[in-house]
Amino acid sequence: MKERPPLVVANWKLNGGTDLICASVASFLRQNFRVQIGIAPPYVYIGNMANFLRNSQIMIGSQNVSKFESGAFTGETSAQMLKEVGCEFCLIGHSERRQVFLENNASCHTKISSTLSAGLMPIICIGENAQQHELGLTKHILYRQLHESLLGQNIKGQQIAIAYEPIWAIGSGKAATPESVQEVHEYIFNELCTIFDEESAKNIRILYGGSVNKNNAAQLLAMPNVDGLLVGGASLDPEHFSEICALA
Ligand code: PGA
Repeated sequence: MKERPPLVVANWKLNGGTDLICASVASFLRQNFRVQIGIAPPYVYIGNMANFLRNSQIMIGSQNVSKFESGAFTGETSAQMLKEVGCEFCLIGHSERRQVFLENNASCHTKISSTLSAGLMPIICIGENAQQHELGLTKHILYRQLHESLLGQNIKGQQIAIAYEPIWAIGSGKAATPESVQEVHEYIFNELCTIFDEESAKNIRILYGGSVNKNNAAQLLAMPNVDGLLVGGASLDPEHFSEICALA
């Protein structure tokens, strides 16, 4: 672990606009970070942001991707199209996509394949809800999410990442403790060794997400199996997000 710089990703969700883009670009171009940074704005801003940040250390990504490549699928955007406008990674299976838009492990499997075929890095979001957490079902849920979305994927020569985001920690102000995150990430790493092999698993960064802010980021990143962070609310303030990136 920790052979590469950590990856810190901003998930803007359905937020942001020209003002946030200008403020973020200005803030990021002013600084040098030791981490790899990704920003996932809403689809419509990807092309512009990718152009603005072309020669920077910041990658632009999407929050979703279609499972279809082309055709009569009104409202969809394919991985190939995203690649063409400068997108470098796609979040896949965020819990809000699973809960509100009824995505499941099978649709994630297809989306991961399309993303890999287009040469983009999928960041696969997994995590248990509050009830599953209380019932001690976390590993069971993660096992299914990992195996059902990753088995059979050809990741040779490709980058992929996992984001562990307990649903009860998202937007709640209650991040999981660094120790519990470490335990879960170690479990995820071991499952990745089974699904692929140890060599490949070592190349998959495992990020934590859920109420990350500048006060808890350093402790989370200090854990041996935490390779980065996925940040929602705190990423909407460019100064706050920069502070998190500077801690890594
Ligand atoms: P949060 O969101 O940082 O606002 O908890 C994280 C996410 O949903 O990716």
